[in-house]
Amino acid sequence: SPKDQQLNFILIPLMSPGHIIPMIDMARVLAGHGVAATIITTTSNAARFYAGIDRAAASGGLPIRLLQVQFPSEEAGLPKGCESVDNLPSYDLVKNFFSAIEMLQQPIEKFIEELIEPSSPCCCIICDKHIAWTAETARKFQVPWISFDGMSCFTQLCIHNLHMTKVYEGIPEGQPFILPNLPDKIKFTRNQLPGTFNPGTRTDLNNIRERVRAAEKEAYGVVVNSFEGLETRYVEEFRKLKRGKVWCIGPLSLSNKDNLDKGSDKDLCLEWLDSMEPGSVVYACLGSLGRLALLQFIELALGLEESNHPFILVVRGGKKEEIENWILEDGFEERTKGRGFLIRGWAPQVLILSHPAIGGFLTHCGWNSTLEAVSAGLPMITWPLFAEQFFNEKLVVEILDIGVSVGAKAVRHLEEQDKLGISVGRDEIHKAICRVMDEGKFGKEIRRRAKEVGEMAKRAVEKGGSSYLNIELLIQDIRQLLNNGQTNPIF
Ligand code: UDP
Repeated sequence: SPKDQQLNFILIPLMSPGHIIPMIDMARVLAGHGVAATIITTTSNAARFYAGIDRAAASGGLPIRLLQVQFPSEEAGLPKGCESVDNLPSYDLVKNFFSAIEMLQQPIEKFIEELIEPSSPCCCIICDKHIAWTAETARKFQVPWISFDGMSCFTQLCIHNLHMTKVYEGIPEGQPFILPNLPDKIKFTRNQLPGTFNPGTRTDLNNIRERVRAAEKEAYGVVVNSFEGLETRYVEEFRKLKRGKVWCIGPLSLSNKDNLDKGSDKDLCLEWLDSMEPGSVVYACLGSLGRLALLQFIELALGLEESNHPFILVVRGGKKEEIENWILEDGFEERTKGRGFLIRGWAPQVLILSHPAIGGFLTHCGWNSTLEAVSAGLPMITWPLFAEQFFNEKLVVEILDIGVSVGAKAVRHLEEQDKLGISVGRDEIHKAICRVMDEGKFGKEIRRRAKEVGEMAKRAVEKGGSSYLNIELLIQDIRQLLNNGQTNPIF
């Protein structure tokens, strides 16, 4: 009978590091709770991100499987081998990227067909909501569809609220307004909102956005990479909106205990950290997608230098050559030798953040980075760039009180930065760093709070913690649904 059959969850992440990484961790977590997890992704993403999954599955005997499809980059007008959003040579190609994703429907459905019949009928699809056609797939194969979008409940509520109330309409640029119906009164300006809410931003993505919103409405429920104690009132509100079907199961990065983080100069970097005083180093990284124009990069570099604290800086500029030339000509690397460590390429971020020498994280407030800082008990210096990053900044700075803002304005892409010039000056950067890192009362207090939240995060994922229980509840819910023969219920 289906009652005691092993459940099989199919996981399909959007091809971007910030979406792939948490889903790999999610597979580990589910497998740890006895669910067979099958991840479907493209070949080069598999090579780049999943090396550890196969090893983990092999060594730990975890029931995880990885299936790979070819990504039709060239057919969609993308450079060959470009299979992840962070490899897009320009922002203009986002649309092509989504066309390529459309083309994956057929091959992925073929996989799913084989997976479902007849060996493991107890199935459920957890998919990144940005791959909207998977909602249709779930309907076709009569399996429940659960969405994941890599954001906090707080952010998802803010976005819902903006769609419903449209409070931002007619408000002049730069004039603050309060989002109604939220547990806290939080002020936003229009340019802090994601592109959807800003007229004048490109409209050619509207179709995609509409499809995603339509798919979202079909979801049976939502899994969230967050934990209840972090944003209790927002989780409650969000649950009301989704008829109870919200499962906060994070921080997912805490399940990645095998330290399989790949990264450039990993050993060198960790050795260097070993030689530094506990809590003394600032780690600065603006995510996988954040690109700074040369002038803005220079302000960041000099702001770090002027703060007088040791630092790790991940160099991911828009125009690499320009930036490398500046580093050389200015003598920045030479001058900060011993005190500064530059990483060119992919940083082993989770490993770095959990090193005791790190004292603060200068972050773009991507939700994964934010949660990784929370999990490591670190205070943040916040520098959001675009998308939903400003929401996360509000949560960190105004609600949790574990961060200091550098006061950034939204810059959606490099072309816009070139037009705007410098948006955050070195002084603001250096001041924010010192507020978080210095020995004064403020710094001590913010570090104490960050540590406290970090302890909460760890307890949430331990046996008996809220995230641990939520995973059990999710599994129970799906099992019951399937036992009752309700295969693809929607709201
Ligand atoms: N990351 C990393 N090394 C890097 C840059 C990013 O390991 O050099 C990881 C980071 O730990 C996080 C993810 O990539 O898990 C980025 O996700 P996030 O939501 O923070 O930001 P995004 O890149 O999506 O803007």
